[in-house]
Amino acid sequence: MSETIFTKIINKEIPADILYEDEISLAFKDINPQAPMHFLVIPKKAIATINDIERQDCEVVGHLSWVAAKILKEHGLAEQGYRTVMNCNEYGGQTVYHIHLHVLAGKPLGWPPYSAKLKIE
Ligand code: 5GP
Repeated sequence: MSETIFTKIINKEIPADILYEDEISLAFKDINPQAPMHFLVIPKKAIATINDIERQDCEVVGHLSWVAAKILKEHGLAEQGYRTVMNCNEYGGQTVYHIHLHVLAGKPLGWPPYSAKLKIE
């Protein structure tokens, strides 16, 4: 797959507000936050979409949720609740094709998400 901006963040070629890093994953604040706390947890392995997750990636993908909860606990945001979202492709609203777990916390969140206007040819 082609390189995305997230590969540049992993390689420290562009800056990010990093919250956690280990050999498998990186977590950093979203540049355009949609909640008082909005960060992304990504695998260091570049996987384009949920559709591209292979059986051997399952541990890596599960690790992302563990990292999310660890950060939220450390920030005192876990008990009140939060949302994790992974968007996929156009209808899911994905814009960066390197899977990432959105983590939104710090305020009550509405459900369901609204439909977006898409330009379908
Ligand atoms: P998606 O729309 O693919 O689900 O989410 C991509 C997310 O990445 C968006 O919420 C967007 O604000 C965030 N994002 C895009 N470029 C950058 C960047 O360069 N730095 C950071 N920290 N976040 C980014």
